[in-house]
Amino acid sequence: QANERESLYVVSEYAQEDFERNLWETSPGKAIGLSYFKERGFTDTTIRKFKLGYAIDEWEIFTKNALDKGYQLTFLEKTGLTIVKENKQFDRFKGRVMFPIHSMSGRVLGFGGRILTTSKKVAKYMNSPESDIYHKSKVLYGIYYAKQAIAKEDNCYLVEGYTDVIQFHQSGIENVVASSGTALTSDQIRLVNRLTKNITVLFDGDAAGLRASLRGVDLILEQGMNVRVCSFPEGEDPDSFARRNSYDDVITYLKENTKDFIQFKASVLVKEANNDPVKKADTIRDIVGSIAKIPDRIKQEVYLQECSRIMDISEDVLFNTLAQLQNKEV
Ligand code: ATP
Ligand code: MN
Ligand code: MN
Ligand code: MN
Repeated sequence: QANERESLYVVSEYAQEDFERNLWETSPGKAIGLSYFKERGFTDTTIRKFKLGYAIDEWEIFTKNALDKGYQLTFLEKTGLTIVKENKQFDRFKGRVMFPIHSMSGRVLGFGGRILTTSKKVAKYMNSPESDIYHKSKVLYGIYYAKQAIAKEDNCYLVEGYTDVIQFHQSGIENVVASSGTALTSDQIRLVNRLTKNITVLFDGDAAGLRASLRGVDLILEQGMNVRVCSFPEGEDPDSFARRNSYDDVITYLKENTKDFIQFKASVLVKEANNDPVKKADTIRDIVGSIAKIPDRIKQEVYLQECSRIMDISEDVLFNTLAQLQNKEV
């Protein structure tokens, strides 16, 4: 229903403005929220550009104000901004810095809220729940701010988190979007595919990120896109790296450390297999599995040759494995 969706957009837009107002104009917002963003090195311009905000640390102040202004409880509940339990109302986001999530055309779909303390008891990031306007699997954080640069640069950097996107923008690299912690989906990749055929996946410098991302990448290959990857030094992510380094140094790092995905995967896996024949066999199936996703036959052939060299396996074996996977006669 178009009308109801419009009402959800309107409520979300109000929330974005309210969280922004808190950040810039209230004492807890300034003392806690704004100083948090500044400590992370975000400038006023950056904070305003991404419409970052602060949710006051009280039970229902947001909901109460919204209702007073005439916004309807049903829409506040459907966007998840308000939680209704036993006829009582609570704000979902309390004492968190707020990252609005925008559609391709810049409408507010939902929010990510980050806790400021380092307590292990509460999830670091909390997101809006799924709603008629917010489908996690169909949005990429930052796409609205990145779309022009993605088309212009004919490449899209894919990072993990909100702050990676924001810090890259502040450094002057604007063709960047984040999957925001969820496993990458085909719908998300399609958003980028409309703008460029080239994706560069930037991994946080931790092993967990790498493993999870290697899996998601097959979905990008499936759409006939070219995938390159770049990982960051241990303990660093694009945010922390871009904060410590100049624009030129970040660009140089990306240039020197970006590798073709298939070549990267082949070399990582072959190292891990460590001459163990069983592991090596699994590895071959794994890498050929990725190559099997590529729609272009010529590219497949080129990659088979490359992998044969990197993994020291005859091209015939790789070719036969590919044929088996694709269920074809040789
Ligand atoms: P920060 O620098 O603020 O600590 P980050 O972006 O580096 O955050 P990561 O731990 O690398 O955080 O996670 C990447 C992304 O995954 C986050 O930006 C967020 O979107 C999502 N995420 C992380 N932790 C959670 C969580 N507990 N619940 C939901 N989403 C999360
Ligand atoms: Mn991470
Ligand atoms: Mn980080
Ligand atoms: Mn991170």
